[in-house]
Amino acid sequence: MALTAVYLSAEVNCVCQAYSLCTEKEETLLLLLGHYYEENGKSFARVVRPFICTRKDKRKDRVEISEEQLSAAITEAERSGTSVVGWSHSHPHITIFPSHVDLRTQKSLQMFDKRWFGLIFSVFDTDATGSERMQLTCFQTLSDGTRADIPVHVTPSSTFLTPHALHVLSNTLPQTLLGEERQVHDECVGTLDVSKGGLPSPQDILKQSYHGATYVRSMVMIQDRLITPLVRFCEDRHANNLKEIERLKKEVGES
Ligand SMILES: [Zn+2]
Repeated sequence: MALTAVYLSAEVNCVCQAYSLCTEKEETLLLLLGHYYEENGKSFARVVRPFICTRKDKRKDRVEISEEQLSAAITEAERSGTSVVGWSHSHPHITIFPSHVDLRTQKSLQMFDKRWFGLIFSVFDTDATGSERMQLTCFQTLSDGTRADIPVHVTPSSTFLTPHALHVLSNTLPQTLLGEERQVHDECVGTLDVSKGGLPSPQDILKQSYHGATYVRSMVMIQDRLITPLVRFCEDRHANNLKEIERLKKEVGES
């Protein structure tokens, strides 16, 4: 096995989980930035930053890392003094195990670096008692095409959320999801005669209205399920921080 273990920062784990839980019907895709290092002749990976990818195909088992996304992630890694060390995707309502497509994708990525690894977050799944659960696994592909399980550890952070992780959650993630919806809308509307300057037929006008309504519905869902809870979370966190500052000031004043 080329890799002994992966250490995932709590923040990256938080972003991966939040992104995976954003969509119950589609798989999500991230690239992972960090470092490889050697210890006692063994190879390890440490993940410190997430890179959210725009998905071109959201169907099950179709998540693919495009060359553009990989190139953008490498640029981001160079800027932050890290490397692209692996990838992560979600399995909503399906088991944690990598599919044949996942194993094939992983094998091709291992050609860049034999230490490259994949993470899978299984979400919206239930256990034997019917309770909802979330699972995480890390894998590589062996030469015969089978799966090798790699131990993965989530490491605690000294701060609850760094500014970068907060930026990813509150800015990059909603922007990416909105951008994907906009792209789908533009592609659908772009095929209609009404968008090409032609005389619109009643069917085209109806289709345009339908795509417009679907786009607005998607935006409202992202607002309702992601942006509003995030704003509330930040407001609560800010209020707690202000209280904590007041408490500490009193403590300093009393001593
Ligand atoms: Zn998969």
